[in-house]
Amino acid sequence: MSVRPILLWPDPRLTQVCDPFVSGDPALAGLIEDLFDSMYAANGRGLAAPQIGVLRRVFVVDVSWKEATPDPRVFINPRLVQGGDTDICTMEEQCLSIPGVPMPVDRPQSVQLQWETPDWQPKGLSFDGVLARCVQHELDHLNGRVIFDHQPPERRATLEAQYAG
Ligand code: ZN
Repeated sequence: MSVRPILLWPDPRLTQVCDPFVSGDPALAGLIEDLFDSMYAANGRGLAAPQIGVLRRVFVVDVSWKEATPDPRVFINPRLVQGGDTDICTMEEQCLSIPGVPMPVDRPQSVQLQWETPDWQPKGLSFDGVLARCVQHELDHLNGRVIFDHQPPERRATLEAQYAG
């Protein structure tokens, strides 16, 4: 399909809560291809639909393709299942929509997610490590949140100034 331009913060489309995909939507297959093409072209490990201007609840991740062991995953209508591990850890994250400004983000170390596969089957799994980090970052995008929104006010102001400069 095609590599599409990635929206840069503070594009207002990055602050919207995205709509669910309706089962059987014919636009899905092309969108998934575009997301992977655009993510790999940008040298990223995850990309959410709103980052290419499509306000729908789908994201893709591949946390290991840079190590030559591709692991492409698609998450349609994902949601967090509460009640899992609540250990919070801090890791540095980067966002393709906020290039050049890595920043520390606190998140649960592991998460449980439910979603639909591209052939509309329900699926659920627990994630930890880099994958847990990545799916939480991308899920945030579907809810109009970016990594700036995880920063305390003072640090956010400094990071925003760094980004603007
Ligand atoms: Zn991002």
